[in-house]
Amino acid sequence: MAETSIEKTQILQKYLELDQRGRIIAEYVWIDGTGNLRSKGRTLKKKVTSIDQLPEWNFDGSSTNQAPGHDSDIYLKPVAFYPDPFRRGDNIVVLAACYNNDGTPNKFNHRHEAAKLFAAHKDEEIWFGLEQEYTLLDMYDNVYGWPKGGFPAPQDPYYCGVGAGKVYARDLIEAHYRACLYAGLELSGINAEVMPSQWEFQVGPCTGIELGDQLWMARYLLHRVAEEFGIKISFHPKPLKGDWNGAGCHTNVSTKEMRLPGGMKYIEQAIEKLSKRHAEHIKLYGSDNEMRLTGRHETASMTAFSSGVANRGSSIRIPRSVAKEGCGYFEDRRPASNIDPYLVTGIMCETVCGAIDSANMTKEFEREFS
Ligand code: ADP
Ligand code: MN
Ligand code: MN
Ligand code: MN
Repeated sequence: MAETSIEKTQILQKYLELDQRGRIIAEYVWIDGTGNLRSKGRTLKKKVTSIDQLPEWNFDGSSTNQAPGHDSDIYLKPVAFYPDPFRRGDNIVVLAACYNNDGTPNKFNHRHEAAKLFAAHKDEEIWFGLEQEYTLLDMYDNVYGWPKGGFPAPQDPYYCGVGAGKVYARDLIEAHYRACLYAGLELSGINAEVMPSQWEFQVGPCTGIELGDQLWMARYLLHRVAEEFGIKISFHPKPLKGDWNGAGCHTNVSTKEMRLPGGMKYIEQAIEKLSKRHAEHIKLYGSDNEMRLTGRHETASMTAFSSGVANRGSSIRIPRSVAKEGCGYFEDRRPASNIDPYLVTGIMCETVCGAIDSANMTKEFEREFS
């Protein structure tokens, strides 16, 4: 009998090498009723090359907070698929959006409305790059690698840290990075954060709805990889009170106009529009964000809107290089690490590019874009 994890891995390896006889495994991934991820696998007869080859599926929504027991079927509609870095070969991971029995989007399916906004504003070619920060926890919910019952030395050497005692779990982070690239996700980079055992990966730039899809899948891969290391991932915006940085999800945005020469004019217009909807945006920018947006630790106040060039203490930052070139993108620093990216990119599109009358959209339009 296998005693050690190495022995178990050797046994598993034998089975992983077995021929699948042409069939593939599709792991369907969805967002549950509390912002966590769930997934289940199914066998498909052959390799999948386009999204419409993937069947709709369903699950018991009463077990995930998504439906009442008497009407518990929730439908999984595939919206994107990627090569599966765990099973490899032709196996895939499938991102699915949740729909109720009557065809309406499930209450936690924020993708549905966002997709309509992006479809209506297709010509603006809105790009997003999100900086997902997160914290590693051990199995007892202590910050991973911190001394038992105590604290590491104060923040300073950890941001982009190098060397023992300054960096935690580089193996897990590297594994996740590789898994994302294998899956074809647009990870633009990765770095250790200011608080020890806090990390960041950046997804983007991606156009419109694709950002939300990719970010959710990158989160899924992170949970899965971390599972293998026995480490928990927390997306809480302020996992530790006191003099430790919180975790955010800075949202970098540009439209086609902003990226072209002279684009600064459009960046300024967008910031003006954002200043008028501060409270509405904050509502969608994550729960417990008031613990993080204190005006300290590189954040701005939660109640007052501000903007500035190269200012990491403002709500919106224009990168120095963008100001110099006169075009590019801006960064919204307000979103918390636990946001639903569909909500954040959706309201951003609405504020910057304009609201749409989604109720009056044609059925064809809905079918094509949701
Ligand atoms: P920071 O200096 O704030 O830590 P990062 O390098 O972590 O910045 O993240 C910047 C993000 O901005 C990346 O995800 C990148 O892909 C994204 N980005 C770059 N150019 C654009 C653009 N034109 N539009 C939208 N996002 C962009
Ligand atoms: Mn960053
Ligand atoms: Mn960061
Ligand atoms: Mn940033």
